[in-house]
Amino acid sequence: MSERFDLLVIGGGSGGLAHAQRAAEYGARAAAVESGPLGGTCVNVGCVPKKVMWYTAEHAHFHAHAADYGFDMEVRGHDWGELKRRRDAYVKRLNDIYEANLDRRGVEYIEGYARFKDANSVVVGDREYKADRIVIATGGHPSIPNIPGAELGITSDDFFELEERPARVLVAGSGYIAVELAGIFNALGTETHLVIRKDSVIRSFDATLGQELMVMMRASGISLTTGFVPASAEKTDDGIVVTSEDGRRSIPVDTVLWAIGRGPNTAGLNLEAAGVETDPDGFIPTDLYQQTNVESVFALGDVTGRDALTPVAIAAGRRLADRLYGGMEGRHLDYTLIPTVIFSHPTIGTVGISEDEAREQYGDAVKVYTSTFNAMFYALGEKKQRTVMKLVTAGDDEKVVGCHVIGEGADEMMQGFAVAIRMGATKKDFDDTVAIHPTSSEELVTMR
Ligand code: FAD
Ligand code: NDP
Repeated sequence: MSERFDLLVIGGGSGGLAHAQRAAEYGARAAAVESGPLGGTCVNVGCVPKKVMWYTAEHAHFHAHAADYGFDMEVRGHDWGELKRRRDAYVKRLNDIYEANLDRRGVEYIEGYARFKDANSVVVGDREYKADRIVIATGGHPSIPNIPGAELGITSDDFFELEERPARVLVAGSGYIAVELAGIFNALGTETHLVIRKDSVIRSFDATLGQELMVMMRASGISLTTGFVPASAEKTDDGIVVTSEDGRRSIPVDTVLWAIGRGPNTAGLNLEAAGVETDPDGFIPTDLYQQTNVESVFALGDVTGRDALTPVAIAAGRRLADRLYGGMEGRHLDYTLIPTVIFSHPTIGTVGISEDEAREQYGDAVKVYTSTFNAMFYALGEKKQRTVMKLVTAGDDEKVVGCHVIGEGADEMMQGFAVAIRMGATKKDFDDTVAIHPTSSEELVTMR
């Protein structure tokens, strides 16, 4: 016996749940299969617990500047274990809310691991489920380098399992996770070593952001080594030592954290049974409408290898439901101009293309505006931290094609500017907008 649905999503994370719930709101008979806790990466081992840790680090940052504002403060310590208990309880509350939401919207929640039987059916345990459409939203997992001793290191998943803060950590990688977690460890007092294999962190963004972040990370006490390609890891009496391809040995540390990217969760899906194709890395390519090469099978979120961000997975899932069940013909996610924040210390907010990309695309028609200043937060103390902003414009009308900020408050700054840029704002529109004073973001509308 098999149960039949209009649609079945594999993966109860950001994208899968968004799609199933929106489809159910339109009246579709929907089911979601999830093998782990509901909410997926973002809720359990991603954005949510990460942001809690970032807030924790922000507290340390405020404590460090409290004396500038007249506080006579002594911080006697920080209880990582207590923080973890509170964070876990918060995540558990969210898991329960997600389950209640599925119930409220009439989405069938199937616990277990799904494998394709054919293009319209999956098997979970010993049960078979059929659906007119199947949506793959199985997300990804942290990559581990293929080197001797790699098993001595942990990943971002394991970071959230740590019961105690390690005294010395080496983070290998240069993307979002590496800089975010290194920043958190460092702010909370861990001796933090970041090793990157090229010459800059976050190389996929405007070069200024990576360069500035490296300066600021070093100033905050992180030891940063460039050109370090991990070749092996070994346990010594003093701790774990990582050796680079060119023979350099790291200092011994208690914890090594690999943050070198993520791979897709497709290996166990039995995609061959449905005829779904993957790219050489295992990601599932789709067209603009999230359609795979098989008519009844769609894919969205991290498993597609596109911008691996929660709001992207959610937006793709909702738009797909709008189109298939809500009568909105042609509706799909436009993957350009996706704003994003890196929760480093300080934060980075960015939308649009980098200066280099703009020069490639528009040549001499590019004009760039920059502003560098110390945020007012630092005005009363000796220790300063820069904010750097860059507006990239193109054409005679100076249309803003990129907006990049590193500094205090960049995280909360970018959403509104992303709306303006999506609407085609020009530099003149920015100039004609009255500033909000005193803020850092006002600099973006007063640049000359
Ligand atoms: P997921 O949320 O990963 O969900 C996939 C689900 O499918 C999982 O729950 C998995 O258990 C399940 N699954 C897999 N295979 C099967 C199967 N065969 N059967 C049943 N279930 C299955 N993004 C942001 O926008 N902002 C952030 O601040 C941010 N921080 C992050 C921090 C970290 C440390 C990490 C790792 C990621 C972060 N992300 C952030 C990225 C974000 O978490 C992902 O982009 C998002 O979760 C992707 O959603 P998804 O639905 O594609 O997949
Ligand atoms: P990223 O893709 O951001 O960065 C990984 C980087 O590690 C690569 O770009 C590469 O940089 C480097 N690298 C790759 N292989 C190796 C290797 N063998 N040895 C050393 N370095 C290597 O991946 P993350 O794991 O940091 O994060 C995954 C995704 O999750 C992100 O891309 C993002 O989409 C999402 N995320 C979003 C967050 C947010 O929104 N704030 C936070 C966290 C994650 P290089 O080529 O320069 O060496």
